[in-house]
Amino acid sequence: MSSPFPSKLPNLSISIFTEMSVMANQHQAINLSQGFPEFDPPAFLKDKINQAINEGKNQYSPSNGLPDLLTQIAKMVHRQYQRCLTDEQKLDGLNNVTITSGATEALWVAIQTLVRPNDEVIIFDPAYDSYEPAVKLAGGVCRHIALNAPNYAINWELVEKTINENTRAIIINSPHNPTGSILSRSDLSTLQALVEKYNLYVISDEVYEYITFDGLCHESVLRYPELFKRSFVISSFGKSFHCTGWKIGYCAAPNELTAEFRKIHQYVTFSSFTPAQIAIAQMLKEQPSHVTGLASFYQKKRDVLVDALKDSRFTILPSKGTYFLLLDYSDISKLNDREFCQWLTKEIGVAAIPLSPFYSKDELVTYHQNNKVIRLCFAKNDDTLLNAAEILCRL
Ligand code: PMP
Ligand code: GLN
Repeated sequence: MSSPFPSKLPNLSISIFTEMSVMANQHQAINLSQGFPEFDPPAFLKDKINQAINEGKNQYSPSNGLPDLLTQIAKMVHRQYQRCLTDEQKLDGLNNVTITSGATEALWVAIQTLVRPNDEVIIFDPAYDSYEPAVKLAGGVCRHIALNAPNYAINWELVEKTINENTRAIIINSPHNPTGSILSRSDLSTLQALVEKYNLYVISDEVYEYITFDGLCHESVLRYPELFKRSFVISSFGKSFHCTGWKIGYCAAPNELTAEFRKIHQYVTFSSFTPAQIAIAQMLKEQPSHVTGLASFYQKKRDVLVDALKDSRFTILPSKGTYFLLLDYSDISKLNDREFCQWLTKEIGVAAIPLSPFYSKDELVTYHQNNKVIRLCFAKNDDTLLNAAEILCRL
């Protein structure tokens, strides 16, 4: 008998997002699990993408991305994060930005660019699910550090203790999926000191950069020129323009890192969807205030959901950014979080995401002892949020 095909990722199965969305559809549950908006991209953007397609702009774009889009991204970054920097410190779109097929591709390519066999990469649990497989396929190893409820702050002393001669990079994600926590200026200064002291690199996943609440500001690595010198900063237009299915993201990095990143990117996808790049460039040029309006748009949605759940038996954890809210269900059920989400989807009619799939095996025992937490996505119409909350309040 032939031996089974040896898997490169033996411990992985389908992602929790796929699993829960399929279950939600099967059971016609209200889907607050996988993170995607229920509403359309702005009308202007839809018009522009249709126009680009109808005008025949349907062939490959340059591998790095359309120059117009690269330039508009740099302008957006200057407006948002780099007003106080000198011209030399400011991002140069043509040399520092590469358009990718979603942030997922950018993360993948940044990780392949950096990580060599046996390199260690520090990630924080709960961690977004695409980091570790990419590190493993590059031959590297993830060192996991837990973030603890309710604030999910980084313990930098533990980070420093974890660094050794094999440590190559630290992956940060702020605003943070799934917890909704955000990094402060002091987090970024500590990170910068460690990176300089130990000669490390940073991958900064900033896909929710425009979604921070209560007047808190997003501490992008792009604000810190010295830190940026050793960083890949990744974002996604899927989040900023409600078009997750278009899969357009980008990576900003210094010249030398960008040159290496582009070598790999050209053999992963070569280039990304041209009509979307044209439309997004026009959107950034003509409606620059769309992105800066996202914080208040999503804060209202968070507040609708939080208010509608206030009489429920869930304990609501703070959400400072992203479009996710964590709920502690310890007072409602003794099931573990995966079983609880399955029950909630099949029997109750609301789909959510359990937190345990975002933890490494080593962290799981402690996680299950201390946590009964699920994630809801509030990028939904208010009616959907209110209907879901009404059901959840009956538990
Ligand atoms: N990073 C985080 C933290 C995310 O939440 C997501 C998607 N939800 C991604 C990366 C991937 O983004 P994209 O859909 O643009 O590939
Ligand atoms: N990032 C989205 C989430 O957190 C899901 C993306 C995906 O399905 N890969 O729910």
